Amino acid sequence: MQEYDLVVVGSGPAGRRGAIQAAKLGRKVLVIEQGKRVGGVSVHTGTIPSKTLRETALNLSGWRERGFYGRAYRVKQEISADDLRRRLLITLDHEVEVLEHQFARNRVQHIRGKAKFVTADTMEIAKDDGETIHVQAKSIMLAVGTKPYRPDSIPFDGISILDSDELLDIKELPRSMAVIGAGVIGIEYATIFSALDTQVTVIDPKATILDFIDKEIIEEFIHDLRDRNMKLILGQKADKVEKLPNGKCEITLDNGRHVTCDMVLYAAGRVGATDSLNLAAAGLTADSRGRLSVNPETFQTEVPHIYAAGDVVGFPALASTSMEQGRIAARVAVGAIAKEPPKYFPYGIYAVPEISTCGLTEEEVKERGIPYECGMARFRETSRGHIMGLNSGLLKMIFSLKTRRLLGVHIVGEGATELVHIGQAVLNLKGTVEYFVENTFNYPTLAEAYKIAGLDAWNRMGDLSQTG
Ligand SMILES: Cc1cc2nc3c(=O)[nH]c(=O)nc-3n(C[C@H](O)[C@H](O)[C@H](O)COP(=O)(O)OP(=O)(O)OC[C@H]3O[C@@H](n4cnc5c(N)ncnc54)[C@H](O)[C@@H]3O)c2cc1C
Repeated sequence: MQEYDLVVVGSGPAGRRGAIQAAKLGRKVLVIEQGKRVGGVSVHTGTIPSKTLRETALNLSGWRERGFYGRAYRVKQEISADDLRRRLLITLDHEVEVLEHQFARNRVQHIRGKAKFVTADTMEIAKDDGETIHVQAKSIMLAVGTKPYRPDSIPFDGISILDSDELLDIKELPRSMAVIGAGVIGIEYATIFSALDTQVTVIDPKATILDFIDKEIIEEFIHDLRDRNMKLILGQKADKVEKLPNGKCEITLDNGRHVTCDMVLYAAGRVGATDSLNLAAAGLTADSRGRLSVNPETFQTEVPHIYAAGDVVGFPALASTSMEQGRIAARVAVGAIAKEPPKYFPYGIYAVPEISTCGLTEEEVKERGIPYECGMARFRETSRGHIMGLNSGLLKMIFSLKTRRLLGVHIVGEGATELVHIGQAVLNLKGTVEYFVENTFNYPTLAEAYKIAGLDAWNRMGDLSQTG
């Protein structure tokens, strides 16, 4: 039986980053991946496919130019599912190639197969050809990620009633679509299809959406969605989903109303992919959603030499944070020092329009009783916004009145997921409102919104240099 210093199950962001980290520290590492190619959910069904689809949709629809040329403007008149898939396949090929090269360069071995525990330090790998092999490890990292939640009550058919994995294989773009679940994935796809002129209805039992984002930003976002005729049915549950004899889908809501559409995307959550790991053999148990609990500093499970990182440990369930978790877990596993990442990390929602945020929301600042002031800037106040024909876009910053430090930055609009990093840097470097007022920004840029928002807050906070 082969022995390894670290065996990693899953080749998504957490697994691959952890594996490469341990290999760089001179350890013998094996990655076990059941998928056809390495990369995980992130590369094959999640982050990269959805972002590629978004980019293709925005480019082919001419979305970014509509502020100038009107809502009827199109770059390509008839956009097909094949148009969307073409760019996706090329992007995925590049991603996989880069990953395989990284594994080869760092001498990380990888094997295709499904892993499960035999004992707490032995894993069985079931290969596609029916062969099973066993490997032994000093440490094990479970980076198995999640899969879509598929309740039995939903008649998934892979054609018109789909989960978010299946959505990537559709043959035709629907004229109308209902999205059940207004979480990040549901909202991203709903707005991408809306940009492709699909009539989209979003249904969620909660009366509000994306509650972890600053409320004012969400109000702006919802205004934008309603302005382009997206329908949001909030505070109502989808009780039943069925396929009608005419090929349409019908959703019955808990108040008896019906929603009829060509396609249903069921995006009401994901569960940890732990069901086939035979966790009991290792002395581990998962929670009701298949997730594992870990020490948040070391990513050790209750069995100290078994680590878990990435989406399988729950919030924030991002590719970006999963990578950091994998790196820390691998360093702890091989006995290296693992520095905690800085306190504030950005959260990006690649909807149309984008939302990105870092630090405290206004609601959190109020809850903590911190005296504060906000600064706001609309993208249409910037020259770059005029050039780009932007009608919407809002940047909001929150500052402490006592220390003048930036507490949170919240953005909705074009480029939000890139722009947020300026705020993130100032936050983690403990910068104050003066940073934005005193520094020169490139002109014309959307980043100038930082200066406008900084000045907006500073005007109300008072100029400390005058009072000494
Ligand atoms: C539609 C969608 C959009 C997203 N968009 C973003 C985004 O824009 N930005 C962002 O930061 N995050 C995004 N995410 C989240 C991101 O994809 C995840 O946070 C990230 O993929 C989690 O990484 P991970 O390392 O936990 O594992 P995953 O990427 O989930 O990969 C786990 C791997 O483990 C393998 N595996 C599971 N069980 C076994 C087993 N028993 N044996 C062998 N292999 C196994 C699986 O096949 C899989 O390849 C998105 C997710 C989805 C679904």
